[in-house]
Amino acid sequence: MKYISTRGQAPALSFEDVVLTGLAPDGGLYLPETLPHFSKEEIASWAGLSYQELAFNVMKPFVAGAISDADFKAIIDKAYETFRHDAIAPMVQTAHNEWILELFQGPTLAFKDFALQFLGHLLDHLLKKRNQKVVVMGATSGDTGSAAIEGCRRCDNIDIFIMHPHNRVSDVQRRQMTSVLAPNVFNIALEGNFDDCQNMVKASFADQSFLPEGRQLVAVNSINWARIMAQIVYYFYAGLALGSPHRPMAFSVPTGNFGDIFAGYLAKKMGLPIDQLVIATNSNDILHRCISSNDHSKHQLQHTLSPSMDIMVSSNFERMLFDLYDRDGNAIRQLMEDFKSGSMTLKESALSRARELFTSYGVNDQVTIDVIRSVFENTGYLLDPHTAIGVEAARKTRRRHDIPMVCLATAHPAKFPEAVRKAGQEQDPALPHHMKDLFQREERYTVLPQELKKVQEFIAANVRK
Ligand SMILES: *Cc1c(COP(=O)(O)O)cnc(C)c1O
Repeated sequence: MKYISTRGQAPALSFEDVVLTGLAPDGGLYLPETLPHFSKEEIASWAGLSYQELAFNVMKPFVAGAISDADFKAIIDKAYETFRHDAIAPMVQTAHNEWILELFQGPTLAFKDFALQFLGHLLDHLLKKRNQKVVVMGATSGDTGSAAIEGCRRCDNIDIFIMHPHNRVSDVQRRQMTSVLAPNVFNIALEGNFDDCQNMVKASFADQSFLPEGRQLVAVNSINWARIMAQIVYYFYAGLALGSPHRPMAFSVPTGNFGDIFAGYLAKKMGLPIDQLVIATNSNDILHRCISSNDHSKHQLQHTLSPSMDIMVSSNFERMLFDLYDRDGNAIRQLMEDFKSGSMTLKESALSRARELFTSYGVNDQVTIDVIRSVFENTGYLLDPHTAIGVEAARKTRRRHDIPMVCLATAHPAKFPEAVRKAGQEQDPALPHHMKDLFQREERYTVLPQELKKVQEFIAANVRK
């Protein structure tokens, strides 16, 4: 399968090359040229498969020709063996026809493990086959960094450098990254904010001449296609568990960069009968404003109780726009050019198509706390703040009550004790067993000033020979 850029001016790439790159050279994001489509009979025949078996069936068409079946099975098995729950993505019922899909059973307690455990083993396989070494560089405001480090810590051919804003991530989040003492893992605490971190990563991808001879940077943020691909699987898994393909489904997704919900949209296009996709945002609501009133304008960043969704602009929305504009790369290039001024307006046909596919809703901190409290009082089930936003958005925008609404639980509540305490819990939620000693573990990180040259010198000096 070939992969093409949303801006139409970059060469098409193979699966291997698309996994080992970042943005396309024309500034776009890569997508498969065509999507596989599964018939109702085929999907029905997958009922009862394990998560890993289903993952193989759903993702196989995307990697066809690049990886043998046996190798691909082994990659998937290794990716999910670190999960604490046998079901990998178990479900809990919280109301009539309302379900929580627990995507936090991986090693770092957030749904990003689904994609990054997989990506780590996938990269390891591809790099060994090519006898190549790469440098992973990324910026994090919290969850991505720890999931990426957990995904890459055992990969011999990868050195990973993750930058976080010094003193601006939670203690749990920092310790999850800095207590990994593997020789190929480097944490940089940058004296700046998340945007400063991200700008350094962008500048480094644009000019990689600071790297030692023969090395290249690989992106592990959600612009990497393999991450999106791995996330399609759990939509099928939840659907099959609740009666699809014979029964339509609805999903509510706490959304930041639009990676997770875009995977849901792809699952629908691939044949899963999804009737409604809910875009749930916090007060950083550019996507909700875009869908509800065609207002896709940058507002100042707000710091909320759901920090993993604190973003001003959703990078993966460009992939959605590409389809809404009938895959016209020129139109997307123009739209992104317009957006440089801070705002863009969708054409009428694109907007109406988006409104058929998605409903949207924005939830502020106070309502987030109220939802955590009321769901706990009614069911005894403790939501994390991101998941609570998804639950509220589902309840407020639901179109049909006769079909299951699945709310994606993107993080474990122990990761966000502040919100949980505000919702009236007297004790912080307990960390799962494998993290009980997190606060006693030794940490290792390097504080660097906000100077591109210093950061790049640090990386060049620490890349292993
Ligand atoms: C990353 C993250 C999100 C947002 O996911 P996107 O794919 O960026 O939309 C939501 N919740 C949690 C807990 C996250 O870590």
